[in-house]
Amino acid sequence: MRLIIATRNRHKVTELESLLNLPGVRLVCAADLPGAPEVEEDGATFEANALKKAVALARFSGGWALADDSGLAVEALHGAPGVQSARYAGPGARDADNLAKLIAAMAHHTDRRAHFCCVLALADPQGTTHTVAGRCEGTLAVAPRGTGGFGYDPLFVPQGETRTFAEMGAAEKNARSHRGRALAEARRQWAGLLKAI
Ligand code: IMP
Repeated sequence: MRLIIATRNRHKVTELESLLNLPGVRLVCAADLPGAPEVEEDGATFEANALKKAVALARFSGGWALADDSGLAVEALHGAPGVQSARYAGPGARDADNLAKLIAAMAHHTDRRAHFCCVLALADPQGTTHTVAGRCEGTLAVAPRGTGGFGYDPLFVPQGETRTFAEMGAAEKNARSHRGRALAEARRQWAGLLKAI
């Protein structure tokens, strides 16, 4: 059977494939479905965006669909960049632009607490949905460090660590990250559901 992954990023599909490890289920990237809808991420929460993407792809494909939405929330910035994480520095912003904007925004703040969030949403063809979430608490370094990962990784130091996510290997990051935690929760809560796909 197949599970549509509501993303155009094939790298994300490969990563999910190994982390979800569902025997007999083939993960299909939305980019490989001709005519698949482009879903605008205009929800006020990570959950709203993940649900919107999963439901749209499940309806379109007539099968099950899985979507994720994630981002960084900074306490001193009242939760920003939040759902705007990918486009914090404006439409089409690159990771380096977003990172530079965050460094500038945090220049005079001593409260450096932040957390990453990831919500996974699963939808069946009738539109019935399920969600799980993962969170990772930490602090923001003053200057970026490390070359691994992506996005805000060079600035984010997870709780109990001195290194940023960008200074860790992929397995080390996955063991602590919001995405790793959401996927662990998905395997726990959805084991039965995923067998039905
Ligand atoms: P999306 O959920 O793939 O759309 O990601 C939203 C944005 O949040 C990304 O473009 C990154 O800026 C940020 N983000 C999400 N997860 C991570 C992460 O694990 N590390 C660093 N940045 C992240």
